[in-house]
Amino acid sequence: MSEKTIFQKIIDREIPAPLVYEDEWVAAFNDVNPQAPIHVLIVPKKLIPRVGEAVAEDQATLGALLLAAGKIADKLGIKDRSKGFRLVINHGKDAGESVPHLHVHLLAGRSLEWPPG
Ligand code: AMP
Repeated sequence: MSEKTIFQKIIDREIPAPLVYEDEWVAAFNDVNPQAPIHVLIVPKKLIPRVGEAVAEDQATLGALLLAAGKIADKLGIKDRSKGFRLVINHGKDAGESVPHLHVHLLAGRSLEWPPG
C-alpha cells in the first residue's frame, strides 16, 4: 500500500492540525505557508490525487468541496460580495502542485490580483 499523503495524515488525526471545518466528505485546515491573511485548504477524505483524475463516481465529493468552501467563507465572514474569496486548484507541475491529494485553496483577506502569477 502506498504511503499516506500529509493531508491524509491530518485527516486521520495522525498529524495535529486544528480543523477549520469538517463534514462527512471533507476536512479543512489552515495552510502552513499562507499566501493571504486567510488561506484554508479544503481536502476530500477520499484520496483523489488531483482534479483531472477524478471520475464520475467522485461527483458528490467534488460538489462537497465547493459547498464546504461556501460554508467556510460564511463562517469566516468573507462570503459577502463586498469582501470575497478565491478558490484555486493546482493540477500538475506547471500549476505548482506539491501535494498529490486533491485540495482547494481558499484565499481571502486581501485584494487578489488577476491574472494570477
Ligand atoms: P499545492 O501546491 O497546490 O499542492 O498546495 C499544497 C499546499 O499545502 C501548499 O500551499 C503548502 O503550503 C501546504 N501544506 C503542505 N504541508 C502542509 C501541512 N502539514 N499543513 C498545512 N498545509 C500544508
